[in-house]
Amino acid sequence: MREELQQTDLLLEWYDIHAREMPWRVPPQARKAGVAPDPYAVWMSEVMLQQTTVVTVRDYFARFMARWPTVHALAEAQDADVMAEWAGLGYYARARNLLKCARAVVAEHGGNFPANYDLLRTLPGIGPYTAAAVSSIAFDLPHAVLDGNVERVMARIYDIHTPLPAAKPVLMAKAEALTPDTRPGDYAQAVMDLGATICTPRNPACGICPWRDPCSARIAGTAVELPKKVPKKAKPVRHGTVYLGRRTDGAWLIETRPEKGLLGGMLGWPGSDWVDTSLPLPEAPPLIADWRAIQGEVRHTFTHFHLILQVMIADLPPDTPGNFIAAKDFQPSDLPTVMRKALDIAR
Ligand code: SF4
Repeated sequence: MREELQQTDLLLEWYDIHAREMPWRVPPQARKAGVAPDPYAVWMSEVMLQQTTVVTVRDYFARFMARWPTVHALAEAQDADVMAEWAGLGYYARARNLLKCARAVVAEHGGNFPANYDLLRTLPGIGPYTAAAVSSIAFDLPHAVLDGNVERVMARIYDIHTPLPAAKPVLMAKAEALTPDTRPGDYAQAVMDLGATICTPRNPACGICPWRDPCSARIAGTAVELPKKVPKKAKPVRHGTVYLGRRTDGAWLIETRPEKGLLGGMLGWPGSDWVDTSLPLPEAPPLIADWRAIQGEVRHTFTHFHLILQVMIADLPPDTPGNFIAAKDFQPSDLPTVMRKALDIAR
């Protein structure tokens, strides 16, 4: 390790001037003046930010905080309301865990997030990353937070060429060794901001980087190659069919997806299983009707596969039995993105 990297002051001085404004963040000046972050807001933002960009999260965060401003309020929310508010943010297991965690914080900790990494880890949906982020950002405890931005910065300042994901333990050890005892919360956010704004994947702005002097990759000229990654396997493609049935009174045939599994607990259109494209296009109409195929198809990418959906529509008599949602209660924004795409095509 280069001596200069111990001087985390370089980074903190940069952060004092360049910290990104975030609705869940207490700026460095306010923090120095004694303003403490709201652990509920920090936790909410960190759960939302996993796999999602800051730009997308801002709106969702604002809506959640306006509707459920405290962990007590969220703990008392209806599951369906939270799932509907989360719709479009993806990775829906996070929303289910959000509720479970809020309820556990209220039931087991009197509505206060514990200021302790190990206790945080016992809460639903809080893994090592979120526990470290809440510990450091909300409670100013010296825990290293290793997100994609921090991985990149660590790989570069130490010129580490081991590909991800094998490099993770080494990068974590480096990040931990660098984490200072003074202002660890600001420091954690400073490294993330450095990765997001200066040490970017393709065009690192080394000339204005507070760590340019000690950075090994800048000296070696290898920054843009790092971090190395094992090439990803191509995602398989699956296909299926969804059925958008509408009664003549405007009500839509809809279902709540099973709790377990993809899009669990979310609203969705009835449909077939999603199967490998080498198999025949599956059909599973929810009821007998004059189903017609719509031109075009829905394409959507999940973490582990691409999905192509055939969309079928039918006009149904007003007395058709089944799980219908009245036109006045139907909000497309309550649907997860893939189901909203099907609606867009049908319309
Ligand atoms: S000097 Fe360049 S490569 Fe090194 S940390 Fe700064 S921006 Fe990243």
